[in-house]
Amino acid sequence: MDFFEEMEARIPKGKVRTRFAPSPTGYMHVGNLRTALYTWLIARRHGGTFILRIEDTDQGRLVDGAVDVIYKTMAECGLTHDEGPDIGGPVGPYVQSQRRALFGKYAELLVQRGGAYYCFCQKEDEEESDDADPKQIKKHVCACRELPLDEALAKKAAGVPYVIRQRIPTEGTTTFHDASFGDITVENKELEDQVLLKSDGLPTYNFANVVDDHLMGITHVVRGSEYLSSAPKYNLLYEAFGWDVPTYVHCSPVMRDAQHKMSKRHGDPSYEDLINEGYLTEAVLNYVALLGWSPKGELAEREFFTLPELAEVFDISGISKSPAVFDINKLRWMNAEYMKKLSPEAFFAKAEPYLKKAVTNPAIDLHAVAALVHSRCEVLSDLAERVDFLDRLPDYDTALYVHKKSKTTLENSLESLKWSLDVLQSLDTWTNESLYDALVALAAEKGVKNAIVLWPLRVAVSGKASTPGGATELCALLGKDESIRRVEAGIALLQK
Ligand code: GLU
Repeated sequence: MDFFEEMEARIPKGKVRTRFAPSPTGYMHVGNLRTALYTWLIARRHGGTFILRIEDTDQGRLVDGAVDVIYKTMAECGLTHDEGPDIGGPVGPYVQSQRRALFGKYAELLVQRGGAYYCFCQKEDEEESDDADPKQIKKHVCACRELPLDEALAKKAAGVPYVIRQRIPTEGTTTFHDASFGDITVENKELEDQVLLKSDGLPTYNFANVVDDHLMGITHVVRGSEYLSSAPKYNLLYEAFGWDVPTYVHCSPVMRDAQHKMSKRHGDPSYEDLINEGYLTEAVLNYVALLGWSPKGELAEREFFTLPELAEVFDISGISKSPAVFDINKLRWMNAEYMKKLSPEAFFAKAEPYLKKAVTNPAIDLHAVAALVHSRCEVLSDLAERVDFLDRLPDYDTALYVHKKSKTTLENSLESLKWSLDVLQSLDTWTNESLYDALVALAAEKGVKNAIVLWPLRVAVSGKASTPGGATELCALLGKDESIRRVEAGIALLQK
């Protein structure tokens, strides 16, 4: 067996194999997380293999610790890989920079097969763009393409610097199929003889990804739709090598609004940002799954899916080709639903660090605070602002006492706070229930609606228009002394 036959023999066959191939940027873009998720789901749905490949050939863009961010994010999300740099596998190495030696060999092979040629036009070399943006490409045309191979090899042997370019047919069309975009046909004359191997012997991304995907036996290539315009050239490469073309699944961008793609540079959150803001990983994954994919049939209306549930029902045909808009309010709503599903202990474990930031008074029972905010918590980072009044009564406007629906005015609020003060001072058992019973009895005795008593009391102890609990729950949390102190302060304020 020669080298190439050996490489072929290593490729696992007969099973779905997908890969997530991030470039280590230091964070996980929401669009990348979605690509990772869909890629993982396709593998799991079909009992296949999910591969992690690190694409670090663009050394200029490398960020310290960025590969660790990828491992950490994948593990946190439960997107476990079956082959990858850390665990190895049959077709490693799984880090692109460690595969360098391969690409030169495959580029030479392609020259032998007629799909590529040596190009000695040095000056064009630098102008070449290595990324997928078609606007960047200036079509290269040169005489090297027609140079007989033996002459080219002689020049190469004589040490003339060269690049290897793809030989694109000058006539005809190339058609490729995408699972969501369908058949796309382009005129070959529109395609450039792109550089595959640079003069330093390193591959361009457009070459490396094809060689790697083939040598890793990838059956489904899931990637952003910014790669659609490169797909015909990839197809021609597969064909020139005599390799099977994988199934392409291009995903439309995740948008901030109708015009703009989400972008970290413009302040849109990455996965890590969302987690730091207090979103739950499960909620983010669920939301991201539905950004560009929808279930069908009886599941069509369903919005809540765990990762294992998604792995059972995910279907490529449900991926949409229209761009999806990232709606933070929808995510907040979904996150709140996931919060509600947490047990009180699990919620407390997540909420505690956020609560501690706002409530430093050790007399206040954070478990009780957590219980109060649990059912209405959308995002953990909102908690501090909702409970900070427990630590310190904020300055507030007496206008808060005036509430139409409760029929409270400045005058009757003052009166009712005075009544409440007496009741609170004489109350021995200080619980939500005992407070409630005593204050409801007070309202009955005075012949007024409960709200006449409870509204002003809630304002007095919180200084806020909206609080995570009612007057008696807040008094129970604050304790007798602090509650009384606040009611006295309220009376003083209203007497001014
Ligand atoms: N490294 C590429 C990126 O992060 C991956 C593109 C692909 O999946 O082929 O954009």
